[in-house]
Amino acid sequence: MHTSLEGHRPLTEVTVIGAGLAGCEAALQLASRGAPVVLWEMRPHLTSPAHSTGLFAELVCSNSFKSLDPSSATGSLKTELGLLGSFLLRIAHAASIPAGGALAVDRYRFANLVTKTVEAHPSIRVVRDECIVVPDGHSIIATGPLTSESMANSLFELTGTKGLSFYDAAAPVIDTLTVDTDIAFLQSRYDKGTGADYLNCPMDRDEYEHFISALVGAKRVVHKNFETSELFAGCQPVEEIARKGADSLRFGPMKPVGLTDPRTGRRPWAVVQLRPENASRTAFNMVGFQTNLTFSEQRRVFSLIPGLKDAEFLRYGVMHRNTFVNSPVMLDTTLSLHARPGVRIAGQLNGTEGYLESIAGGVIAGLNCFCAIKELPSLVLPVTSALGSLIAYITNPQTQEFQPMNVNWGLVPELDERVRSKRLRYEAYATRAKNSVSSTLSRHPLFEG
Ligand SMILES: Cc1cc2nc3c(=O)[nH]c(=O)nc-3n(C[C@H](O)[C@H](O)[C@H](O)COP(=O)(O)OP(=O)(O)OC[C@H]3O[C@@H](n4cnc5c(N)ncnc54)[C@H](O)[C@@H]3O)c2cc1C
Repeated sequence: MHTSLEGHRPLTEVTVIGAGLAGCEAALQLASRGAPVVLWEMRPHLTSPAHSTGLFAELVCSNSFKSLDPSSATGSLKTELGLLGSFLLRIAHAASIPAGGALAVDRYRFANLVTKTVEAHPSIRVVRDECIVVPDGHSIIATGPLTSESMANSLFELTGTKGLSFYDAAAPVIDTLTVDTDIAFLQSRYDKGTGADYLNCPMDRDEYEHFISALVGAKRVVHKNFETSELFAGCQPVEEIARKGADSLRFGPMKPVGLTDPRTGRRPWAVVQLRPENASRTAFNMVGFQTNLTFSEQRRVFSLIPGLKDAEFLRYGVMHRNTFVNSPVMLDTTLSLHARPGVRIAGQLNGTEGYLESIAGGVIAGLNCFCAIKELPSLVLPVTSALGSLIAYITNPQTQEFQPMNVNWGLVPELDERVRSKRLRYEAYATRAKNSVSSTLSRHPLFEG
């Protein structure tokens, strides 16, 4: 699949910082094409609060790379990564263990295989030390959600206060087609804007009280020690607000003022507002609903909200320590920093979320770094693909109040024809994604031939 584009001149050395999922993938993409790489990894001398070994690509929590179903967004991402020639996906398959419809790995085998592959590569020189400044020249920063303090400070100097965040407080995102619009109604508060910018899920008093008691009693994620001091500094989880008093949400994120339920002609007792997540309005987020509930509890409790009984969550709410750059204003579509072109940000640090997404960021940053060195056209995947839509989302300057995102079908444009069956719709998205990526790659000098 890979075309060797090695010229006669020695290629510029690329600095990759962080030998996690993104950094190892990026290093292998570059080195396999003949670009010399120096790869920095601070472990085991200096470790992060979540890692426990000195191995590369250590999985810090679950051992799952999610669904293998080719019609799911994560399944499609695997197909796309296969077309792009991802090394770590191949290693994940080699280290896989039976896990139903998911790709799960033996975490030690996986990390061992990645470490050996990277260390054995003749074009990769490993430096086991902390890199404390953002380098000049072609480089990829892939230091992850637990980036060391010195590197975070160096990034902070480069990006400014609006450029870097230290924790992730995201509200759930819902597939628009799964909201019951016989109950939820379109209206902006006091009819501002277009007058119909938000979807509103109205509650009467009984529904509200039932919801509040389920919310305060729901099971929450237990945070690791290193996370608790950073959490809740900036914004409160919805269940914490609810705990302050029966009416606290009704006078906070669930206030019903300026809204009229068309079914009753009256102002509801309380309202959950859903705000469009993208221009095509295929996904909506729950306004003010950043939460620490476990994923299964989010499903159970939030489905009590009128209009959301059968809602499908494209991403769940999360609150945890997470260093990430404000990519919509900081990065271009090749993941290069506007403030220092040639320096790319890959992995969770660029505001994507998830193991597979981190690998994908490594592929895109690695390939585009190589293209830049060889003066080839950039590789930008179509927005109809799972990966292309994720990169487009995180680098879209119009994205407001940016929070990290995983791949999901809510990010892709609608199909030309409306398909009501969810199964068929997802299959159509996946087919379109595969075809569009294949077609893009067949026309790019790195892959053609
Ligand atoms: C606690 C926690 C649990 C998570 N659980 C999951 C999960 O279950 N499933 C999921 O899909 N995603 C999960 N994630 C999110 C994310 O997918 C993972 O964090 C993923 O490992 C990110 O990949 P990465 O390559 O961006 O960073 P990492 O895999 O973290 O790699 C970054 C590397 O950079 C090194 N480093 C940092 N700073 C420096 C420096 N200055 N110099 C040199 N080296 C440095 C680190 O030691 C590390 O090896 C979790 C995140 C956290 C924080």
